[in-house]
Amino acid sequence: MVSKTRSIYERDLDRGPANYAPLTPLGFLARAAAIYPRKTAVIHGPTRYSYAKFYARCLRFASALKKRGVRPGETVAVMAPNVPAMLEAHYAVPMAGAVLNALNYRLDAAAIAFILDHGAARVLITDREFSDTIAAALKRVKKKPLVIDIDDPLYEGGQRLGEKDYEAFLDEGDPDFVWRPPADEWQAISLLYTSGTTGNPKGVVYHHRGAYVNALGNALAFGLTPDSVYLWTLPMFHCNGWTYTWAVTAAGGTHVCLRRVDPALIFPAIAAHGVTHMCGAPIVLNMLVHAPAEVKRPLPRPVEVATGGAAPPSAIIAAMEGMGFRVTHLYGLTESYGPATLCAPQAGWEELALPERARLMARQGVAYPTLDGLMVADPKTMRPVPSNGETIGEVMLRGNTVMKGYLKNPEATRAAFKGGWFRTGDLGVRHPDGYIEIKDRSKDIIISGGENISSLEVEEALYKHPSVMEAAVVARPDPQWGESPCAFVTLKPGAPPTAAADIIAWCRINLAHYKIPRAVVFGPLPKTSTGKIQKYVLRDRAKEIV
Ligand code: ADP
Repeated sequence: MVSKTRSIYERDLDRGPANYAPLTPLGFLARAAAIYPRKTAVIHGPTRYSYAKFYARCLRFASALKKRGVRPGETVAVMAPNVPAMLEAHYAVPMAGAVLNALNYRLDAAAIAFILDHGAARVLITDREFSDTIAAALKRVKKKPLVIDIDDPLYEGGQRLGEKDYEAFLDEGDPDFVWRPPADEWQAISLLYTSGTTGNPKGVVYHHRGAYVNALGNALAFGLTPDSVYLWTLPMFHCNGWTYTWAVTAAGGTHVCLRRVDPALIFPAIAAHGVTHMCGAPIVLNMLVHAPAEVKRPLPRPVEVATGGAAPPSAIIAAMEGMGFRVTHLYGLTESYGPATLCAPQAGWEELALPERARLMARQGVAYPTLDGLMVADPKTMRPVPSNGETIGEVMLRGNTVMKGYLKNPEATRAAFKGGWFRTGDLGVRHPDGYIEIKDRSKDIIISGGENISSLEVEEALYKHPSVMEAAVVARPDPQWGESPCAFVTLKPGAPPTAAADIIAWCRINLAHYKIPRAVVFGPLPKTSTGKIQKYVLRDRAKEIV
């Protein structure tokens, strides 16, 4: 019996196939192929192909996986740089109902073997470039997956390890394969392992709904259109390229693949293909800023560049803007499908002097249009901090673009979602204008004489020094203060001789006394494959300094 208290809007207005469909990013490709069949979808070196071909290749790929017995809910791993096969896997693997595990190609054989076993990979598609690591990993795995090689003519070297080459594998498939959207949008689409700097990596699981929603959030936040030409300077294994693998197709733009992040390839690609958009960690931006003059080329038109994954110092933002790039600052984590916030520009910022504008842009900003909740709160009471730009709390996120959870790790999932929010482990403040600013990862903050020192704030000051190209600041045990800041600095090529005392004197002018590094070490900085400085390595080094 229908209750009388039910609203008139709850009666005879039911959900059915005519008015409800599970959200999935897979339909973006079918749509783009129908609307833009002849338009260039993918460029890879001298190869370019249309949306019709891109779709047909994905259908063959999905069909070939099925024919090899891959069942819904099984895992297909890919170890490859940003090549077409990796992009196609983002569609074909879930079209077969399977889950894509894009592997971080900088990991060693032991970590890859752990991941292949933990994720129970049925198939591994692997580029020759990583054959040494993969061969060693395959010796360790408990159950060997079917191995398919990517035999990219743009790479010389390495070996084929598998049963078949990727192109021959596609030939096994049917281009008229009929894929179906998932029965439930909560179904897993992707598995991504976090870096695992403290123990075994954790497997972050995405669902179709979140991938769809975040991809559209990207298109909106970054202004993608059918005219967009997107250069793949961000690894696709990093949060599925922050879900731009799906977003660019949603807009009907063009994907320009790139095997290696190298300014000597990036500047010519921008010029040759009329690139309009690209993404990269601040370190990639820094590489472009400091590229040798003979490599740099003037931009044919302004290029939108989204940066995130680590805090971009305002000096880097300013230098990029000075070169004609337009910078968008994004913040997020693997657990949030990549970007969850953006530093949305406000009217009037354009008129500000560049350093001041860059300073505002260096903040992590406001919620993505597709994120439901963003707060900076006390992790114990869950009460939001006041918007005063000073009180530090933990950044917390909630909504449809937060992972399903960690694979086979209920304790870690529970801890991450405790209190009904996803706890990022990042510490930040909220400014009076509502914009958030990250001050540190909780494990990176320096506690000196009972005061919190934001390593990012000290780095921000160091990056403004005219001779500094890169800087990272970590805690060093200090007999008097508990901890004190220790700076690791790389100087610009051709910079005048600079001593530790010069750097410290600079900090004295630009920072409160207690925040000044007590030690300065010069040299290259250790980095992860996603362009983050490995602070745990530096912390160990800092302990050795006497
Ligand atoms: P990993 O844990 O391997 O570094 P993630 O990509 O998940 O991989 O890293 C997310 C972390 O990167 C965030 O928790 C934050 O500390 C940092 N981060 C990402 N984007 C920004 C940003 N725009 N500013 C400051 N920190 C950022």
